[in-house]
Amino acid sequence: LAYEVPALPYDYAALEPHIDEATMKLHHDKHHQAYVTKLNAPIEKHPELAQHSPEDLIRHLNTVPEDIRTAVRNNGGGHVNHTMFWSIMKPNGGGEPTGAIAEQIKQDFGSFEDFKTAFNTAAGAQFGSGWGWLVWDGKLKIVTTANQDNPLTNGHFPILGNDVWEHAYYLKYQNKRPDYLAAWWNTVNWDEVNKRFEKARQK
Ligand code: MN
Repeated sequence: LAYEVPALPYDYAALEPHIDEATMKLHHDKHHQAYVTKLNAPIEKHPELAQHSPEDLIRHLNTVPEDIRTAVRNNGGGHVNHTMFWSIMKPNGGGEPTGAIAEQIKQDFGSFEDFKTAFNTAAGAQFGSGWGWLVWDGKLKIVTTANQDNPLTNGHFPILGNDVWEHAYYLKYQNKRPDYLAAWWNTVNWDEVNKRFEKARQK
């Protein structure tokens, strides 16, 4: 198979109480797996594409053959988004940002608190399924996308993103997306976010 779901780098229950074990199991084993399965199927029709990383497929979506472009956009996006998502969280995460990203957040948003408020407001206002993102575009910007669209398609490197599909929070938080958004910051792996920030600035 061309693409595979990466193993979760911690236990399903490791992000409790912020993200519950049942949600993590379903989200990783069923939802992420479904995106990968539905990405591999169309790639079989164009096996030459399998040499590309999923990020490259999403970055150059306009070069993907038209008959599978929507499938790659949705399911390749789902794969890339969730692979990032697991990696930017960790047990006992959260707290104040560290390193270079802490400085840049201060510079571009005034303070971490102001940044969090702006991010949660944007992600809370995303109508229906989608993601809230912190991207690098010469400066830090907050954007949202619908469905599984990734900022890479618009030329923006995603430094962190939070999944606001109902499958990400409904078992524990039901309709209270703002509560999920507030709790999610307690899971953030700032070391990994800093690695992504460094990568973003190199591009
Ligand atoms: Mn998801």
